[in-house]
Order: sequence, then structure tokens, then C-alpha cells
Amino acid sequence: MKAEIITIGDELLIGQVIDTNSAWLGQQLSLLGISLYQRTACGDSKEHILSCLKDAENRSDIIIITGGLGPTKDDITKKTMCEYFNTTLVTDEKVLEWVTRIFRMRKMEMLETNLQQAMIPAISKTLWNRSGTAPGMWFDINNKIFISLPGVPFEMKTIFEEEAIPLIKNKFTLPFIYHRTLQTCSIGESYLAEKIIDIEETLPHHIKLAYLPSVGAVRLRLSAQGNNESEVINDVATIVNKMYERIGEYIYGENNDSLSEVVGKLLTNKNKTLATAESCTGGFIAHQITSNPGSSKYFTGSIISYDNKIKQQELNVSNTILSNDGAVSEACVKQMATEILSKFNVDYAIATSGIAGPDGGSEEKPIGTVWIAVASKNEVITKKFNMGDNRERTILRTSISALDMLRKMIL
Ligand code: ATP
Ligand code: MG
Repeated sequence: MKAEIITIGDELLIGQVIDTNSAWLGQQLSLLGISLYQRTACGDSKEHILSCLKDAENRSDIIIITGGLGPTKDDITKKTMCEYFNTTLVTDEKVLEWVTRIFRMRKMEMLETNLQQAMIPAISKTLWNRSGTAPGMWFDINNKIFISLPGVPFEMKTIFEEEAIPLIKNKFTLPFIYHRTLQTCSIGESYLAEKIIDIEETLPHHIKLAYLPSVGAVRLRLSAQGNNESEVINDVATIVNKMYERIGEYIYGENNDSLSEVVGKLLTNKNKTLATAESCTGGFIAHQITSNPGSSKYFTGSIISYDNKIKQQELNVSNTILSNDGAVSEACVKQMATEILSKFNVDYAIATSGIAGPDGGSEEKPIGTVWIAVASKNEVITKKFNMGDNRERTILRTSISALDMLRKMIL
């Protein structure tokens, strides 16, 4: 069975809006065990939409369309679908009641165009939109399924999850598809691959391994297919156990875990606290930590000592260190970490100092040179890195390395 996605809107073609709907739908279809054959973006033109629908119908069994369902003139999907299926628009009384209620609640006057939101093609089934006024539509014509959804991402997602997925599962017999992802960091993709080469080469044929690298991290996704759910899950678990034995030190979490979240959980469970003293990361580590709900339990604060004066004033970095070793040095980050540890009276501290670029590099300390210190009450560990010459990546990599050093220290 094959599926296709058609996203509609001129804004997608000119790059004003990035087509995140397709990416999300692609993930959902893959989780359902439906293979996605093609994605098409098409402008707000009736002829173009009609030809895209025809092409997709010739190739695929499920065609998902997003966008163009709104009340404005440029939204022509509904009318075009009517023309394609040779049908007319009729009022869905339940939707009309819903739209009227929303407008009454918002104390806004209903316009003629808003009434049109409740019109749907006579041969389609309404997909209820709990998050907005434009309903989705389900067409089952000669065993080809067309699903039309609004363009607004959160409305599209709610309707797909709550309304379309149950109908798809009802209509088709789908294989059981299972994914388990191991999140790794502090090791490059090729080094990782070399360590697990024999595991990869002897994978059973129904299990696939994918490497998904991003800045500072590599995700290893195991995907398996089968008819017996518990067998599939067990087969993947066997491989995952082998991976933990081999590369466990690099695995910080699974599936959607983020590194800062994992560190946060470790701190919470051990009832420990953390503070940061950041130079080159400019508070980015603190930002990542505080993005997690509940971080106030373990994160006390940060000093962003970007200027050397602040390193001296607030973190007691001595003149001697600054003139002999420099701000990007082991001595400096060690002092920053131990000082913030005692000043903020926490159990753990992270300190960073580096040259993010594009200026400021030298022969001895090229752009990308970063020192990180992680301190507890018993020890301070330091590490020097070269993070490369891209400023944004250096900041991200530094935060990942620092959080991973802390994770290992806590463990
Ligand atoms: P509305 O009722 O809000 O008009 P609609 O179904 O008519 O919904 P569009 O007008 O096509 O949807 O798009 C509404 C907004 O949704 C766009 O401005 C854009 O921000 C977002 N959007 C549309 N298509 C996509 C897409 N493929 N990926 C991500 N965002 C999208
Ligand atoms: Mg619109």
C-alpha cells in the first residue's frame, strides 16, 4: 500500500512557510506501517491542484492533502475537491452549530464566509476539528482514500490523530511497525558505526538500523516489522541489549529524550542541584536546562561571565590566570566552576570558556577551542575540545559536551 501527501499553498512554494506538515505526516505514516511514496507541494491554482490529485490517484492508495480549507478567497481546496469528484457542497449541521458556538463564545459576528466553513462535499465524511472551525474531509472513492486537512499545523495534527488514524486502521490491515531509538552523543557517526559493525552486519532481516546524525549527537533508530507484536518488540530488545553492552557509555537516552531532560531527571532523583558559569555558551546551557518543566527543583542559576571583568568580579578569576593562561584555559574554567559551586552552594557546576569565532582565533588557540569544567564537591574534571569554525555549532556542541560530562559525573 502506498500513500502520498499534497500540500497546498503559494506560501510553501516561495519559502515563506516551511512545509512541516509533510514531515510530521511522513513520521505518522511510517509509524502506522504505511510507506510514503511521494510528497508534492502545489500552488493555490485550481488546475494545478486537479492535476496533482489525478497523478496521485494513479499512483497511490491514500492521498493526504493539507491547506486551503479556510474562509478566504485563496482557499480553494474544498471547491476543487467538489469539481474533482463531481459533487456539490452541503451544510453539515453539526459543524454549523460548532462554528456558530465558537463565534458566539468569542463574541464575534459571523460572516457569510464563516458559514461556508460548515459546508462539505456531499460525498465526503466530515473529520471533526476540535481545535478550529475548518473540518477535515474523508473521501473513499473506488477504494482510494483522500483525506483533506487544514493547513494550520496544530489543527491538522489533531484531526489526523483523532479522526483519520482510526478510519485508516479500520479500512486497511496494517503490519505492526516498531521503532526504538537510542540517543548517543560525544562520539562521531563513523566511530560509532565501527564499534557496532558486527551487530549491524548480523541484524535479522526484519530489523533495520538507521544512523541519524545531528550536531553533537547521533540517533540510532532500530525499525522492525512483523505480524506478532511481542515477538517484534523482543527481537529489537535483544539488539538493543547488545548495543548497551558495546556502546552504553555513549547512550544517554532513548526515543524522544533530550540530554538536558535526562540530566534533569538524574539531578531530581538524587536530590542534587546545579549552577552554571558560562562564557562562550552565553547562557545556552542554562536555557536548555530551564526549558524542562520542573527545573526549578535542581537548577539554581547562572553567571554569564562573557567579559573578563565579570570573570574577575563575580567568579574570582585572578589576574595571573587571565594574563598567563588566558580566559580560554583549563585554569580559568576550573576557577569558574569551583567558584560558582561555592557561591551558589550547589552540588554540581558547569563552566565553559571558548572561542566561538569568527574572530578571536590564534595559532595557539584556533577558533573552536573550548574548555569545559564540571565540578562537584569532591572533584573537578576539565576537558579541551576543538568544536570547529561555525559559531552556532560550537555553542550547541559545547552545551552537549558539558551536559554529557555532567551526566557521566553524576552516574
Ligand atoms: P485557515 O482556516 O487557517 O485558513 P487553511 O486550511 O486554509 O486554514 P492555509 O490557509 O493553507 O490553511 O494555511 C494556514 C496557515 O497554516 C498558513 O499560513 C501556514 O502558516 C500554515 N501552513 C499551511 N500549510 C502548511 C504546511 N504544509 N506546513 C506548515 N505550515 C503550514
Ligand atoms: Mg487559509
